[in-house]
Amino acid sequence: MDIQHKAKAKQKISSNLSEFPHDIHFYLVPPAHEISLVDFYDLAFNRLKILRLIEEVTLRGKTKYSEDWRNTIINEIRKLGLKKIAALYSSSGSNASPVDEVTRREDNISHYLLRLAYSVSAKNQPWFISREIDLFRLRFGFLSKEGLHNFVEFNKFDYFAEESFIKDVLVFQSEFFGHQDVEHGKLKCTISCMGAIKSREKRFNINSGFWQISDEEKMQVMNQLVQCCSGVSTVEIESNEYYKVSFQNVPELIRQRKVFLKDGFAYVAASDLVFFFTQQYRNVLTKGLQSLARIAPLLDGDSRLAPLFNGIHDVYMGRDYSKTPEDQATILPEEIDQLAMESFPPCMQRLHSILRSSHHLHHFGRLRYTLFLKGAGLSYDDAMAFFKDEYTKINPDKFEKEYSYTIRHSYGKVGNCRDYTPYSCVKLITDAPQEGSCPFKYDTRQNLHKWLSSLGSNSQGDAQNILQSVDNEQYGQACSRYFELIHGEGPESIISHPNQFFEESYRLRTGKERKETGKAKKEKPARVSIKENN
Ligand code: SF4
Repeated sequence: MDIQHKAKAKQKISSNLSEFPHDIHFYLVPPAHEISLVDFYDLAFNRLKILRLIEEVTLRGKTKYSEDWRNTIINEIRKLGLKKIAALYSSSGSNASPVDEVTRREDNISHYLLRLAYSVSAKNQPWFISREIDLFRLRFGFLSKEGLHNFVEFNKFDYFAEESFIKDVLVFQSEFFGHQDVEHGKLKCTISCMGAIKSREKRFNINSGFWQISDEEKMQVMNQLVQCCSGVSTVEIESNEYYKVSFQNVPELIRQRKVFLKDGFAYVAASDLVFFFTQQYRNVLTKGLQSLARIAPLLDGDSRLAPLFNGIHDVYMGRDYSKTPEDQATILPEEIDQLAMESFPPCMQRLHSILRSSHHLHHFGRLRYTLFLKGAGLSYDDAMAFFKDEYTKINPDKFEKEYSYTIRHSYGKVGNCRDYTPYSCVKLITDAPQEGSCPFKYDTRQNLHKWLSSLGSNSQGDAQNILQSVDNEQYGQACSRYFELIHGEGPESIISHPNQFFEESYRLRTGKERKETGKAKKEKPARVSIKENN
């Protein structure tokens, strides 16, 4: 894949219509197409949005892989405006429901872009693998009987010998990168390498990893199948197709004691083949990430790819909370104490607490809090009055000379007059720790435990769940669980911005959209009062 102008790329993308015979596949063929830089990032970030969406819907309590879970995710993907992708991901896989080839190809490219991005981040690879497997299971769940049959046929004959495939890829890479052309264009050579792997792949040893058993063999093991598949009748077994697979390919079925084992093979019903394919996909992903990790350093110096490699996992893709306060003045200085207690996220709640107690915030704390209040709807004049009131309590002269500049600058009144955007969670989590940083990331576990335990008499279990998310370094999830703890229900999506926390909290507490209310008014009592954490 090379990066080119958009029109040319589109033309090339649509030129080959026989590359992906089925809507679902194992992403064994790296892309070898030209693509514009705009499409490059559109495809990568759209897939990232979908993977995050899958996580959000799961965390909302939908049973994973259930019909409700699948339909909710597809509806949410449609709401993102990705209708073709939604159609591809919910395809029955039958011949009667073909999805256009360009969408299939873009799906393949988007997968490889994220695989490349995550190959450089060992820490975040488990997340990527888990979400990709969820996506695979989601798509598999939509397959009709015919679609499943097509998928099985498609994969049975092209089944690859994993070890020899990966080995050959690595040998090929080392041969390729020894070539002098690498000196002249790292990106082109590396991506071309992926394309070249495709042609070599066809020569790899084909090793069918599973095959359907005959009716005769099925009758021979009928008693064992009935015993192993509890609740399944002889009639059902007779009408179902069964496959033999290597036992190590279905650990989940073995763990659940849902499968008959003989001579190192597991006898798997067609309806349970998803476990087999999921394990295969997991192997492909794990090894594919290892393989790409060897290429990725060669792309390091390419500035076009920097956004892909520099912390894509933490990229904020939510709403822009920078607003023109004059258009939407929705909170007043005298309401801030109450709102901070009820509806501010912990990071901003702490800044407010520091400001009220010490009448001062350091530069970055002041900047973070000013931008948050601006995004929450505090007008410029009110912000000046609010901060002046606090700062002049200890040093009346310094406010005008030193501190007021931050506020004027944040509202775009001085300097380059930009309307600055409030900081997202990603910034507050990844920037060096200072006033206003995410407490879930930077507070000690002991302090967090003490604070969370103080929120309510029944909160021990909730506190443990929040701390579990902190231990897993899932700070947005921890904050969402905290939101649920104090509101009685969770946010609409995983918290990724302090202003999102505030807006969702306000809406829940008042039952109103802020922009419709004009001035914020407290209409409902808080379910739980958040106690201050020093
Ligand atoms: Fe603030 Fe975001 Fe951390 Fe919540 S997750 S405390 S909103 S930085």
